[in-house]
Amino acid sequence: MYNEISKQLIEFIEKSPTCFHAVQTMSEMLKDEGFTELRENRKWKIENGGKYFVTRNGSSLIAFTIPEQEMKGMRIMASHSDSPSFKIKENPEMEADGHYIKLNVERYGGMLCAPWFDRPLSVAGRVIVRDGEPGTFRSILVNVDRNLVMIPNLAIHMNREVNDGYKYNAQKDMLPLYGDITAKETFMKTIAESAGVNPEDILGHDLFLYNRQRASIWGASGEFLSSGRLDDLQCAFSSLKGFLSGEKKEYMAVHCVLDNEEVGSGTKQGAASTFLYDTLTRAHESLGFSREDYLIHLADSFMVSADNAHAVHPNHTDKADPVNRPCLNGGIVIKFNANQKYCTDGVSAAIFRDICSAAGVPVQTFVNRSDMSGGSTLGNISNTQVALNTVDIGLPQLAMHSPYETAGVKDTGYLVKAAAELFR
Ligand code: ZN
Repeated sequence: MYNEISKQLIEFIEKSPTCFHAVQTMSEMLKDEGFTELRENRKWKIENGGKYFVTRNGSSLIAFTIPEQEMKGMRIMASHSDSPSFKIKENPEMEADGHYIKLNVERYGGMLCAPWFDRPLSVAGRVIVRDGEPGTFRSILVNVDRNLVMIPNLAIHMNREVNDGYKYNAQKDMLPLYGDITAKETFMKTIAESAGVNPEDILGHDLFLYNRQRASIWGASGEFLSSGRLDDLQCAFSSLKGFLSGEKKEYMAVHCVLDNEEVGSGTKQGAASTFLYDTLTRAHESLGFSREDYLIHLADSFMVSADNAHAVHPNHTDKADPVNRPCLNGGIVIKFNANQKYCTDGVSAAIFRDICSAAGVPVQTFVNRSDMSGGSTLGNISNTQVALNTVDIGLPQLAMHSPYETAGVKDTGYLVKAAAELFR
């Protein structure tokens, strides 16, 4: 089962080089399962027993089901669609020394810079084109599905101290090489060709670099899985699989994948936005519930905020808490933080442990060393819009925010089972 799930996860990630593609991949899976797509700019007609999904900005998605019988509350699992990368700037081509064309890019999120060097990369995202009538636009997903660019390292002979630690300058060190001088003025043509449009029709774009290295399963017994964007597509995929397979009987089941977690969630489609609130309240209103009914349901609801967690690093075992030490393939990680960067508390931890116990999957615990501040996630941010009992969890991984991260082959299956139990 684990290998089958790993294969499906790899397929999901390979179809999803950017947040836009991840949302499209999930939309297709939901349509295949008979879900109706709702539009935010149209009236909603929600019915008991119905299955729906809605997207915002093409980069965040919320799918939900309404129980046939009386609704007792909501069960929500939230994850994120974005990953750290480099965004292509406007007017991206730069000439170097009369011989090269490189691309002007800027950082998106907090990535490990070093592993982006010396490996084939490509470009994916979306372009916005005029759609016939003036004032109407269409978004087209783009993936230049070939090795297109690379960020070459500077040779050791010209940077003798590099192995003693190097401070990467995003404007100088990280610009990818696109072609020789004959490639001048062809980059946007390459993008347009991929999108199947004329270059002059492109009025806007959101394009990112992505790692071309295929995902792999490796290790003495094939126990590890490496790929780009495991944070957080591993959780988004597991949430969706569990959501689709769970029985969803007495609760409104909600699979929620939000964009922009890596840059603080403060966008119209991020966890700090009203997207989740708008969707839950509109569904309630369409079903004829009052605002008080919504608040009563919310008080009887539970959310799992699923975003990957740090496993103990084999070469840096001292970086982990002395006691709470998650390992790859050890199960789902419950994340704790006294200062509430993670919103887990005694109550939500107990509820989630109970869910995992019913699902028959192992759990581990993560707490930062007391002398180190860790990362943050979307659970507590989302709670400022939709406040409910929430646990922060994740799957254990190494090399978080590298373009090639490592996880365990068993853990995806554990989260699928726990999600199915949550949505039962
Ligand atoms: Zn994450």
